Amino acid sequence: MPHGIHQPSGSAMQTTIPVYHTDTEQVAALRVPFPVSEVKTRTQGGAELSYYEGYTIQQRLLDVLGTGLSIKTGQVIATESNVNVETLLVIEWASGRKTSTSGWGSADILLGKSGKMVNDPYKSAATDSIKVAASKLGVAAELYDSKYREGLAVRLKELEDQAAEKAFLTCQGCDGEIKGGIRKKADGTEFELTAKQVASGTRQKFGKRYCKDCADKIVKQAAPQDPASSSAVKLVVSPKVIGETEDIYNL
Ligand SMILES: [Zn+2]
Repeated sequence: MPHGIHQPSGSAMQTTIPVYHTDTEQVAALRVPFPVSEVKTRTQGGAELSYYEGYTIQQRLLDVLGTGLSIKTGQVIATESNVNVETLLVIEWASGRKTSTSGWGSADILLGKSGKMVNDPYKSAATDSIKVAASKLGVAAELYDSKYREGLAVRLKELEDQAAEKAFLTCQGCDGEIKGGIRKKADGTEFELTAKQVASGTRQKFGKRYCKDCADKIVKQAAPQDPASSSAVKLVVSPKVIGETEDIYNL
């Protein structure tokens, strides 16, 4: 069924976007900390800054306030070196109460060698100003909480480690997951290998990390079909190489 033509009753849209009945519920929903996976970091003036992307903040505003939100541009002040934009978040809350919250954002004008502007400072400043206004409503307030920030550093490190481990256990042949398991030595004895051992073992042998299937394929391709058939094959696959590949998993 094509999108946007027919909306069946009780569609996903209606069930997944919560409806807030009171201003208090809306205020609480605005303040809910974002998932740690949304946190971005950048270094500025030697200090590490944590922040959220502009669209993450705007999505929160829209999710909670919906049609009650109007984003209006206020004053715009441009100098030779930067642009400053004021944004107003005009809100009609669940109760019908109306408020207006403003924020200023600024962005430097970046010029290329030819003297032409190479960035969009108006857009950057506008995005910044929405963040500032939203922060006055408690959106992303957690980033200003010292206790939260302490825990955040630890959690970000954990996420980084998880991502690194996942990358390490991704086969460079088929992009599949590298798994551990029971392997057989040339003499028939069985032994167990962890996924990490398979990854580091194949990297050691082949220069890349491979899953068992890919490693087996490479070993098979390297092995002579008929040892006497071709001198070229013999050159590539000397007995020494076969001996090594047979126990590629034996670390
Ligand atoms: Zn693979």
